[in-house]
Amino acid sequence: MKVYINVDHSSVMEHADDKLKTACEKALAEKYGKTVPRQIQERYASELDHIVANGFAPYYILASMLAAKSRELGYLHNLRGCAGGSFIVYLMGISETNPLPPHTYCPTCRRVEFVDAGQYPSGFDLNRRDTERKRCPNCGAALSGDGHDIPAEFFTGYDGGKTPDFDLNVAPEIREDMLRYLGEIFGEDNISFAGTKEMVSCDLLPHAMFSVLKRMEELTGVSASSIKFEDIDIFSFFMDDDFKGLPFDSELVRSISDTVFPTRFSDVTRILGFAHGRNVWTDNGENLAGTVCVPADAIAHRDDVMQTLLRHGIDRKTAFDFAETVRRGEAGTYLTKEREAMLLEHDVPAWYIDSMKKIKYLFPKAHSTEYAMNYLRMIWYKIHYPAAFYGKENI
Ligand SMILES: [Zn+2]
Repeated sequence: MKVYINVDHSSVMEHADDKLKTACEKALAEKYGKTVPRQIQERYASELDHIVANGFAPYYILASMLAAKSRELGYLHNLRGCAGGSFIVYLMGISETNPLPPHTYCPTCRRVEFVDAGQYPSGFDLNRRDTERKRCPNCGAALSGDGHDIPAEFFTGYDGGKTPDFDLNVAPEIREDMLRYLGEIFGEDNISFAGTKEMVSCDLLPHAMFSVLKRMEELTGVSASSIKFEDIDIFSFFMDDDFKGLPFDSELVRSISDTVFPTRFSDVTRILGFAHGRNVWTDNGENLAGTVCVPADAIAHRDDVMQTLLRHGIDRKTAFDFAETVRRGEAGTYLTKEREAMLLEHDVPAWYIDSMKKIKYLFPKAHSTEYAMNYLRMIWYKIHYPAAFYGKENI
């Protein structure tokens, strides 16, 4: 059951712009140091300007309060939909997904270096279990990788004018506590659970996976957020293990894995995209991945279409419009002869254009990324603490 929380805009959300700015700048300084790299500063400033110009700051504040409350109660949560594509959402601690382009990050001196997104579709792909981590050229500390390369536009709209739609998955047992907390802060009269005008809203959707992760933490003494994804042998797990107790469609994921041969974090994300789209894998990607193209080049998410067209030199607005059309399953009619010729002129391969036309629905990469992290935590517990995991497999 989904709960829509609406909070009276006027009751608490005074100075929301300042609150948002202060919180983000604190997070930026903590993460990237006093001199924030230009590309990161620009992404932040552009998102913030749109939020302030449209009066959307209260939505971000409300969502960040709920995320913080879930953490305070000792539970992980995640975000559904496109919200994880916003850098401000990441800075506010609402999502775990850093949407910046893939980069190495030095946890000691905070040095950032962007890497080739073709080679490393996710920055997490830089952290490999079979290879020692590279050292920071500044200070010699072991580097980590971050950045999932997600454009903000799918969440904010091209011009930033789309009303933010936050949809949080939380453990069912804390939902009442979270509602009580909002009542204490805003006053119960200022909260409603039906669509109402002049209110700021957020959706809370209970998800049992977060109860399971909490129980696994208690049973094993290992905190889920301390798990390193590169410690998981993704290839062996997806090829040889069973998926019992994991909340995804096992048969389809198995069949995609047999073609994709996942080894990296981005492969797991991609599998989720293939599995959740319509006419994305079946009769489409399955005939391309591994034969016509490398699996990483087949379309798994709406973001892939935008990024691919950008890489082919197509302008941002046009690339976004194409991606939106494809994700709605409308590329067949949208791709007039003129538009198709334009893509071909930019060296977009014919097989790619055909693939776009077949798609009926495309999933957002932000959603898959948020889920991939938590699925991999579940997989880690399943591998390392099978007895504890199997005792709690009924989810
Ligand atoms: Zn360093």
